[in-house]
Parts: sequence; structure tokens; C-alpha cells
Amino acid sequence: MKLESVKLNEFALIERFFKTSANAKLVSDTNSIALGIGDDCALFGNESLNQIAVTTDMLVEGRHFFAGANPEWLGQKALAVNLSDLAAMGASPLGFSLALALPTVDEGWLEAFSRGLHTLAHTYSCPLIGGDTTAGPLNICITAFGSIPKEQALKRSGAQVGDDIWVSGIVGDARLTLAALRHEITLPASDLSTIQSRMHQPSPRIELGVALRGIANSAIDVSDGLLGDLQHILKQSDKHAVVFLDQLPKSSTMLKQDPDMQNYFAACGGDDYELCFTAPISLSAQITRLSQTLHLPLTKIGSIGSPENKPALITLLNSDGNILGEPETAALLASFDHFA
Ligand code: ADP
Ligand code: MG
Repeated sequence: MKLESVKLNEFALIERFFKTSANAKLVSDTNSIALGIGDDCALFGNESLNQIAVTTDMLVEGRHFFAGANPEWLGQKALAVNLSDLAAMGASPLGFSLALALPTVDEGWLEAFSRGLHTLAHTYSCPLIGGDTTAGPLNICITAFGSIPKEQALKRSGAQVGDDIWVSGIVGDARLTLAALRHEITLPASDLSTIQSRMHQPSPRIELGVALRGIANSAIDVSDGLLGDLQHILKQSDKHAVVFLDQLPKSSTMLKQDPDMQNYFAACGGDDYELCFTAPISLSAQITRLSQTLHLPLTKIGSIGSPENKPALITLLNSDGNILGEPETAALLASFDHFA
């Protein structure tokens, strides 16, 4: 087999070239790093009371957004996806830097982009503290910094047997919007305008992440599809999950669609920027109260078990309580991979 025909997926690529054992040793030898590659943020500050959470996310034209996309929404989304990673660790935003490649200097575009960016920065008290600007294909890369009391970060590796699995908000509408914009489906204009902000202007769940300190045993933000991202928690916690497919929270617009498509978009749609977290059953009532305080739906979608003798990381149950077949399960467990 020719070497170039062996294709690495996104996560294998990171493991092989960046998350190397030599780098892991460097991380562990460097006393000030508490957590390196592999979670929603890295953590600095082993010796201090507060740790610093750091995350980087990039938006590339033609990959993450259509050419000609609304620049104000782009400014908001570029920061929102980074704040979502801070939320997933339970961190409070401190500030961010912006690296920008621009094909041309278009003042109108820059005005709208910076308005979107600064509006969101203001909402979350997260100022821009530096960056880099160059000519090139449109590419927006943000690094965000947050703060979190030591030992309180919500890691992917903390899920415990018996935990409930929760997800915030609703899932699948960003993918439903994308399907309509790509003409994969026909959606009435009124439905599209109801749900399209879910793709263009996601809300980072910062308040929820902070409130989950001391409650959640593990968390991740849903960027690549709910069940794909839940598998990162399961792998890093060495656990198994049972998930009730019909309990995935869906919008009324989603509920008008074909049932198979509903499940597919809610389970693996991606771009939701909700939090998926696990917490002890004993804290269930507290989480329900939190949902009311934050005016944000929090839905129990399954539970964590031990991994013995389970072929897949997740067992999916359909609406009649039966286990979903293997090919259907495999299709729904596929996570978004930028290189697939
Ligand atoms: P997220 O979806 O939360 O942004 P990703 O799935 O993109 O996380 O990345 C998984 C992990 O790999 C994260 O800890 C991220 O920091 C790390 N990572 C991604 N790309 C690189 C890279 N080029 N070099 C080093 N680490 C990377
Ligand atoms: Mg993330």
C-alpha cells in the first residue's frame, strides 16, 4: 500500500504529530502545566489558586462558513466557539487574541466583523488583548483565556459509573439550517428564520459551565456532533454510556422533519455549541433548579456505565426501549472529522 493512500483522520493526525509522548513528557516535566492536549482547554498554574484555561479555534472560509457570509455574525461566531470551549471547562473568560488573514481591506466588512466580535466580547466581559493581521485567504483564528479555581475544571476524563448524562439547550438545528442552505432539504422561509441563528450566532454556555463547577463530573462542548463528542468523554473516562435517542432535545422546527433525519441531525449534526456533561443522580434536582434559574433547558439523555464487554462506547435505545441495530448505531456514532 502506498503511504499517501493511508489517510489519517483528524484525531489520529493530532495524536501522531502533536500529542507525542515526547511532548507529553515535556508537559509533565513543566510544573506549571496542569493539563495538556486532549481536552476543550489546556490548564496552566499548578501552584496557584486559580488556573488559566487556554483554547484555540479557527474559522476558515469555505470550510466553516460560506464565502460572502455575514461579517457581523462571523465576528460573533469566531469568539463564541472559543468561549464555548472555556464554558466546557467551567472557566470564566479573561480575554482573547485574534489572528486574522484577510484577502482585501474592506472597511465595511471590517466594521461589521469587529462590531460582532466586540459585542460578544462585551457580553462576556472578555476583552481583545492582541493578535496578528496579514493578507491571505480569509481565516479567523482566536485564542481565548479563562480562569478557574484549582481542582474545579470540568474535564472530559471525570465521568463516573452511575452518572446521568445531560445536554443543554436543543441540538440539531445548526445542521438543519446547513441542510436548508445547501438545498439538501426544503425548509419554509419562516422556519429557516426561526432556527438559523443556531448556526450563525451560537450562544456560549459560560454561565452554565461556571455553575456546573462542583456539580458535573465531566463535560465537553458539542461542536462536532453530540454522540461523537460524548465519545471523547467516554474514551477519556474509560466508561460506557446508554443514550435514549428519543430524549435528545429538539426544536419544534426539527420535530416537523422526517424522524430518521431528526435523530441523525440531533445525534451527529455538529455546530450546536451546547454543553454535554455528566453528574451524579443525587444532584438531579439541583440541576433541574439550575435549568430554571438560567432559563436554559437541561435534558437528561442517558447514563454512564462501566465498559465491560461492550462492543461500542455507546448503546443507543430507540423510543420503544429496544437497542438500536449495529449499522444504525455506527452511523449515529460517527463524529465530524475535518479530513474524512
Ligand atoms: P475542540 O473541538 O474542543 O476545539 P478538538 O477536537 O479540535 O477540540 O481538539 C482536540 C484536542 O486536540 C484539543 O485539546 C486541542 O487543543 C488539541 N489540538 C487540536 N489541534 C492541535 C494541533 N494542531 N496541535 C496541538 N494540539 C491540537
Ligand atoms: Mg470543545
